[in-house]
Amino acid sequence: MSDSANQGQQAAGGRKLPKISFEFFPPKTEEMEQTLWETIKRLAPLEPSFVSVTYGAGGSTRERTHATIARILKETSLTPAAHLTCVDASRGEIDEVVARYHETGVRHIVALRGDPSAGIGAAYKAHPDGYQSSAALVAGIKKRYPDIEVSVSAYPEKHPESASLDADIDVLKAKVDAGAARAITQFFFDNDLYNRYVDRVRARGIAIPIVPGILPVQNFKLAKNFATRAGASVPAWLSEKFDGLDDDPETRKLIAAAVAAGQVQKLNKHGVDNFHFYTMNRADLVFAISHLLGFRANSAQKAA
Ligand code: FAD
Repeated sequence: MSDSANQGQQAAGGRKLPKISFEFFPPKTEEMEQTLWETIKRLAPLEPSFVSVTYGAGGSTRERTHATIARILKETSLTPAAHLTCVDASRGEIDEVVARYHETGVRHIVALRGDPSAGIGAAYKAHPDGYQSSAALVAGIKKRYPDIEVSVSAYPEKHPESASLDADIDVLKAKVDAGAARAITQFFFDNDLYNRYVDRVRARGIAIPIVPGILPVQNFKLAKNFATRAGASVPAWLSEKFDGLDDDPETRKLIAAAVAAGQVQKLNKHGVDNFHFYTMNRADLVFAISHLLGFRANSAQKAA
């Protein structure tokens, strides 16, 4: 399926639909694998532009990413995007992974520096024979495989290790100069942060799409911890919305759908026509939000 997969669909009233993409993580257990595949089957009929699979540290985690990508290619008509990091690997090892992906038909890689294997907060040290930065990784992929599309990360609230937002945008610029075609943002809850960030990025002459990464909040406590580690702010209004609902998952889900749907609909009205959803391997919220954006399941795929 091409990047224009869902361009055939139009929302009611002839409005052009935005593009959507979904992010998954590789499952650790058989039960999680089953959940992921139920999720993929539910979301596939929405015909996303691509679905991406994250990449962890350590051999077995990485093998799970490769296996998930291979299964997506074999069993679905979705376009997979494989995440890849520079962590704890020589250039040769990374080049081999890229070669393997290319051979199996992968034509989209999300290229990242990655977090230190000791965990977020530990000092990052590049592998002595490895790619020294995410920009070097992008250049390495594009040099050997010009036909692979490369996406990279972007941080509307700056990366926690970054000295300033300007320094962060310098890194984004280096990645774009190395051949990145699209940036996907860290999640955020305040649209103004994203809109201001895009203005600054455009003022630096960066023209690639800056696709907002949307995290529907399945579990507020977890999302808050995740946000703290990722350097994303959690506005007081959001905490208030989930206040008192710790033991009420049903209401939490309704609130989560309303909040995320409001966020994407406002961005869409503001002209944003591309959304990347952090699904956390769950379909229901993302399916509902996509429906509100105007997406309808393709019945041919639904029957498959
Ligand atoms: P870069 O864009 O290269 O750098 C981010 C910022 O960190 C830069 O702006 C720079 O200011 C600062 N920085 C980088 N290196 C240095 C340095 N040596 N010294 C000082 N400052 C520095 N992680 C995974 O492990 N697997 C994944 O699959 C994954 N997928 C992701 C997908 C998206 C869309 C996003 C937004 C993040 C993802 N991450 C993933 C997290 C990411 O790996 C971490 O945030 C990591 O710390 C930075 O990698 P990067 O490529 O984003 O960094």
